[in-house]
Order: sequence, then structure tokens, then C-alpha cells
Amino acid sequence: MAASEKTVSADERRKNVVDALIREHLAPHVKRIDAESFYPADYLKSLGAAGLLDSRDASPGEIRARGVRLVEETSKICMTTGFNLWCHLAALTYVRGSGNEFLRQRLLPELENGKLLGGTGLSNPMKFYAGMDKLILQAEVAEGGYRLSGTLPMVSNLADDHWFGVVASLGDSRRVMAFVPCAAEGLKRTERIGYLGLNGSATFACEFSGVLAPRSWIVAEEADAFVARIRPLFILYQIPLGLGVIDASIRSMERVRDKQRGCNRFLREQPETLEDELRELREQTYRLASTERPESGDVVQELLGLRLKTAYLALRAVQADMLHGGGSAYLRNSAPSRRLREAYFFANLTPTIKHLEKMRQSGAFSGTIPS
Ligand SMILES: Cc1cc2nc3c(=O)[nH]c(=O)nc-3n(C[C@H](O)[C@H](O)[C@H](O)COP(=O)(O)OP(=O)(O)OC[C@H]3O[C@@H](n4cnc5c(N)ncnc54)[C@H](O)[C@@H]3O)c2cc1C
Repeated sequence: MAASEKTVSADERRKNVVDALIREHLAPHVKRIDAESFYPADYLKSLGAAGLLDSRDASPGEIRARGVRLVEETSKICMTTGFNLWCHLAALTYVRGSGNEFLRQRLLPELENGKLLGGTGLSNPMKFYAGMDKLILQAEVAEGGYRLSGTLPMVSNLADDHWFGVVASLGDSRRVMAFVPCAAEGLKRTERIGYLGLNGSATFACEFSGVLAPRSWIVAEEADAFVARIRPLFILYQIPLGLGVIDASIRSMERVRDKQRGCNRFLREQPETLEDELRELREQTYRLASTERPESGDVVQELLGLRLKTAYLALRAVQADMLHGGGSAYLRNSAPSRRLREAYFFANLTPTIKHLEKMRQSGAFSGTIPS
């Protein structure tokens, strides 16, 4: 059998497994996730239990490509759950990239097999590194590690036994990155709901009052260099959140094509145009996922441009879906209205559109962005 045939069938097998897990553990709960803050832990754990997050025997390019597809397939059905999965993939990225033996030997297998779930508190550090914010968490050297203090306003995909990544400053000159359990002494979590969408994302304000982070929890002593290294993957795994929402919006518009004797064809935004643009963004995403050196300057610039274009296209697609759907789309719990609210989160997820526009307009990356 040719190698390419083998790869195709392995990919197809994975896709069949994902489809079955979505049917069983995700699709029946989408309305509850959106309307009742239901956190889809079983679905997230089922992905690991099925071996879909396993990094053994896979090249870095394969791991990235699989992660991207998984977030995209999930987000076609529910972007809130796609976001939870992104949080977990970000946590996996930190642990996979760390030189810390405890994290790699003890936690990584459990994060990959679905027994443990992870999150990321890196929005504030990303804004800090972009010169937009002060770093919230402070670290002090303590016996055996560091003591962490400060409050992160929003960290998602958390529960009592989950872990998440944070960055804290040691004075002005150095930053450390740690992977912290929600059960850590001195850490208080307060649930945050009441958002326009995303309420099933298990989001909490996390207040650190002198939390002792032993050396076994330290992802990187030099967080600045570590964050620069993982940032491309942090951004890469976000892009399929948008791809999934755009795809679902196009399918939704296609389903109402013949309504009112085809009157939707007079609307200015049509599914065919969105589909052409989606195809380009998707191809670029898959290509960048499999590239050998995602951390190289050219790739990072391309990723930033792609993330921004995807956010803009997602906003166009969900708005078009609302117009094509008409009155039924305007129902509070309709799928187009959920996607509209989810897409606004995607636009305001760090790096937000304004953060990316700041970078683009100060020359950090180029690329034609539609007006
Ligand atoms: C539902 C939801 C889930 C999120 N999940 C995560 C996550 O898992 N990890 C993560 O790191 N970030 C998370 N965020 C933050 C997100 O990535 C963006 O940073 C945020 O949506 C807005 O960024 P902004 O740049 O527009 O900041 P703005 O909202 O304009 O805020 C400006 C600054 O004020 C501070 N701030 C904002 N809100 C509060 C608050 N309620 N209390 C105290 N200070 C505040 C922040 O430091 C922020 O930089 C989440 C946000 C939401 C709405």
C-alpha cells in the first residue's frame, strides 16, 4: 500500500472516531452548553480516552495538524467546546515544550489520555509582551520554588482537579512560567458566568494568595523565551475555532437557500463567496500546521495575519447567517444566534482583533486585510 493511501485511511479513521464522539457526547448537549452553562467535560475526556491527543509515535507536524482538525470539527458543532479544547491544547503545548521531568513524565500522559484536563491563563502575559498591559501575577522566591500572588480575571476549562499555565514576574527583570493545580493551597476560584455566550466554558477568576509553586510545577524559569517559542502554536490552535464557525454558518445558509422562493439570493453576502474565502484560509491553516518550523519569523507573521483574517471572516459569516436565517435565526436559542455570540468571543479572545491590528499597523506582520 502506498504511504499516502495509508495516511489517508488513518486520517479517515480518526475522523470517524471524532464524528462518533461528537454525535454521542457533544451534539446532544449543545443547547445546554449555551443556555445553561453546562460544561462538556465528558466530551473533552472522551477525546483523550480515544487516543486522539496522544503525541507518542507522531511527528510535531502531525500532532499540530491533528489538533487543528479536532478544534475545527468540534467548533463546527459548538465553538464554546472548541474553545475548551483549545484551552486544553494550549496546556498540552506548555507541558510538551517544558524540560520539567515531573510535568512531562507524570502529568503529560494523563493530560493526553483524558484523565486530566488543563487550561491557560496567558491572555494577560500575551498582552504584557505586546506592551498593552502590566503583568498581573507576582512571584517571590521561596523555599523549594516560588510564591505566586495576584488575580487573573478569567481562566477557562477549569474544575477542581484541573491544572493551568500562568506567568508571573520576579521583579522587573525576569518572568517564570508555572503549571498550577486548581487544588493548590492559597488559590481561590470564583465562577464567571453571565457572558453573552461561552458560559459552558467553565471560566473562573483565579485569586492567588501566596500560592507556593514548587520547582516541580515550573514550566520555564525563563518565561520570556518560552512564551516566544510556544506563541505560534497558541495562535495556530485558535484559528480552527473560526474555521468551524464559518463552516457551520455556510451550511446553515445553504439549508435556507430555497426559503421564500429563493429570496436570500438577493442578499449581499452569499455562501459561495464565504466558501471560497474559507477554503483559502483552511488550506493555509493546514499548511502552516504541518510546517517544519512554526516558530520561524515568516510563519509567525503568516499565522498572525491568518488569525486576524479568520476573525474578520467569522464575523461576516455569522452576520450573513443571521440575515439568511431571518426570524428563526433571531430566536434566543437558535444555532445562528449562538454562533453570532461565539464569533464575538473569537474576535475578543487574546490576541483580540484590536491587539492584532495594533501589531499589524506597527509592522509586526503584513498582509492584505479586507476593509
Ligand atoms: C468567557 C471568557 C473566557 C476567557 N477565558 C480565558 C482563559 O481561559 N484564559 C485567559 O488568559 N483569558 C481568558 N479570557 C480573556 C480573553 O482572552 C481576553 O483577554 C478578554 O476577552 C478581553 O481582552 P481585552 O484585551 O479586550 O481586554 P479588556 O476586556 O478590554 O480588559 C482590559 C484589561 O482589564 C483587565 N480585566 C478585564 N476584565 C476584568 C475583570 N473582570 N476583572 C479584573 N480585571 C479585568 C484585564 O487585565 C484586561 O487586560 C476569557 C474571556 C472571556 C470573556
